[in-house]
Amino acid sequence: MGAFRAVVIDKTEAGQHVELRMFDEADLMDGDVTVRVSHSTLNYKDGLALTGKAPVVRRFPMIPGVDLAGTVETSSHPEFKPGDAVILDGWGLGETHLGAYAEKVRVKGDWLIPLPRGLTPYQAMAIGTAGYTAMLCLMALERHGLSPDRGAAIVTGAAGGVGSVGVALLAKAGWHVIASTGRRQEADYLKHLGAAEILDRSELSGPGRPLNKERWAAGIDTVGSHTLANVLSMTKYAGAIAACGLAGGMDLPATVAPFILRNVALLGVDSVMTPKALRLEAWKRLANELDLDKLATMTTDITLNQVMEAGRAIVDGKIRGRVVVEIA
Ligand code: NDP
Repeated sequence: MGAFRAVVIDKTEAGQHVELRMFDEADLMDGDVTVRVSHSTLNYKDGLALTGKAPVVRRFPMIPGVDLAGTVETSSHPEFKPGDAVILDGWGLGETHLGAYAEKVRVKGDWLIPLPRGLTPYQAMAIGTAGYTAMLCLMALERHGLSPDRGAAIVTGAAGGVGSVGVALLAKAGWHVIASTGRRQEADYLKHLGAAEILDRSELSGPGRPLNKERWAAGIDTVGSHTLANVLSMTKYAGAIAACGLAGGMDLPATVAPFILRNVALLGVDSVMTPKALRLEAWKRLANELDLDKLATMTTDITLNQVMEAGRAIVDGKIRGRVVVEIA
């Protein structure tokens, strides 16, 4: 394969241009493993890259796509050999390193992990970076010592990718899940995933008081801005919120009141640079704990031809659950 199909973002003086075209293998970046990509996914960050809405792409041309499943084609890395089934999430893929919306990638073997036992490549990408981030959030809450007997757990941006998997994981772990969404029409979907209550996101979206009535002990926030500030203001004494997203804004117009008067903790979660041991643990737990029937109900499929349009839809908050990009 001298050239392969890839979604390529170019930047000229006229602005950003995205197209599906042939890409020469000789132009791939350095790495000790080449992987034939079978599936990728659509994450919010991919939408930002495809639309140029935020400067997540750090070199041009860029092939976007932050995560992939595929088969090793060639390797000089000691842990991987041709034919191995692998996945990759983050490490700058689709931002600083040519990414996953392509039939082939060349990457550092240190970034790869074996396809988790019990998952097909398709299922691993239905989970994708969004689902793996939701698990990192759950693990952060557990490390903080929180358990369902302490009260409810809120998930904001609940009908999105991180949110949908977060609802399913927290419910499976025994939490009373409050799903905050701007899409009332997705109430049945969220209840099917395990939500016990639906909260209209308008209740959390405006400027709020420093402290409010205590409503939940834990939470996964994918929205940021006023939403996160309000979530913190309603967190019970000694509770914690895992913050991973900025779908509503990157600011945090909060006060220190929840921290210093209620012993509330704000736990930051980044999936991109997470060390390998934690990744392996997160993926093992996903394979064991996530209900695969529920995963199927939250997943839709697209092809490489459709990622540009889907990228616009995700930054507009119009994508429900997870989107798998079928590549081979
Ligand atoms: P999605 O677009 O699938 O989900 C985001 C959800 O947030 C939407 O579905 C919507 O949910 C809600 N939302 C969107 N816009 C607004 C708004 N203006 N105000 C309030 N709520 C809004 O994205 P992902 O699930 O892929 O990602 C969610 C967030 O997490 C993103 O910000 C992303 O960058 C971040 N992320 C961070 C990672 C990390 O490593 N820290 C890894 C992966 C994702 P609803 O309709 O239910 O209200």
